[in-house]
Amino acid sequence: MSGVAAEIAFDRATKRYPGRAEPAVRELTLTVPAGEICCLVGPSGAGKTTAMKMVNRLIDITEGDIRIGGESVRSLDVTSLRRGIGYVIQQVGLFPHMSVADNVATVPRLLGWPKARTRERVDELLDLVELPAEDYRGRYPSQLSGGERQRVGLARALAADPPVMLMDEPFGALDPITRARLQHELLRIQHEVHKTVVFVTHDIDEAILLGDRIAILREGGVLAQYDTPEALLERPADEFVARFLGTDRGLKLLALRRLDELELEPLDGAVAPTAAGSTTLRDALSTMITAGSRSLVVLDSAGEPRGVVTMDSLTGPVA
Ligand code: ADP
Ligand code: MG
Repeated sequence: MSGVAAEIAFDRATKRYPGRAEPAVRELTLTVPAGEICCLVGPSGAGKTTAMKMVNRLIDITEGDIRIGGESVRSLDVTSLRRGIGYVIQQVGLFPHMSVADNVATVPRLLGWPKARTRERVDELLDLVELPAEDYRGRYPSQLSGGERQRVGLARALAADPPVMLMDEPFGALDPITRARLQHELLRIQHEVHKTVVFVTHDIDEAILLGDRIAILREGGVLAQYDTPEALLERPADEFVARFLGTDRGLKLLALRRLDELELEPLDGAVAPTAAGSTTLRDALSTMITAGSRSLVVLDSAGEPRGVVTMDSLTGPVA
């Protein structure tokens, strides 16, 4: 497998644990297109981690198959399979006695890269995850915050430029502010590296933010729905999915759209309250509520009034 992102195809992938009557993942069929982020969500025990670990064979498939770029994971040598897959987990798993640079260099060293190339790659990756190399390369994991450790974990997973990344609740243990920052960092990085990512989370908001597509699993590893965030929010397949999306599903849908996308009404002398065009419809609605106004003046990127948006135009039916 090269650095080019590869499609991941689950084909009736099933996992039965010994001594358990029901499978943990049952005939999971879905395709993650190359270069996209697929979020696996669902309640605890739904089989998210099991489904993800079948990709790098930390867990072996009982029936069915998973193909990466058309090649069955069963047919690949486990060591080379895993070297082609970046893996990031909640507990990070940095080596405590090794410097940040040595942690990030783990896979390049296993692959026998020349020292100079490895050093260059480590610095490049530390810059990518916004840990300036001069400051961070010599530190040890105990000298890092939780968020910084996750950044190092991400840099390490990206080191050998694997086409596929598996991430299991990587931001689950972080405080909300650090977590939000890392989520946006991941999106920025993904914009540069275009990996095919399977991202496990139980947090539907995280999935809506990060996922190009979202797979909702229910108990027994049964796929309830696989769709884009927008399609899920607009058309949940059943009661379970609707409940999982939450009663604020309509507001979540508004959060996916921005004022810039709307046709505005003429200014007609209106001056306040105002909102930037990049404001989400959800935040615009909130601003109207707190300002006690049924409309907002939308500003262009130069801060000039561009038109008016009304509450009625935001609250059309959601389907
Ligand atoms: P999730 O990540 O969605 O919380 P998991 O994939 O960890 O779910 O677990 C799915 C189901 O499989 C659960 O019922 C769990 O108890 C069971 N399970 C997970 N690992 C094992 C194991 N090694 N042996 C037996 N059962 C397991
Ligand atoms: Mg899990």
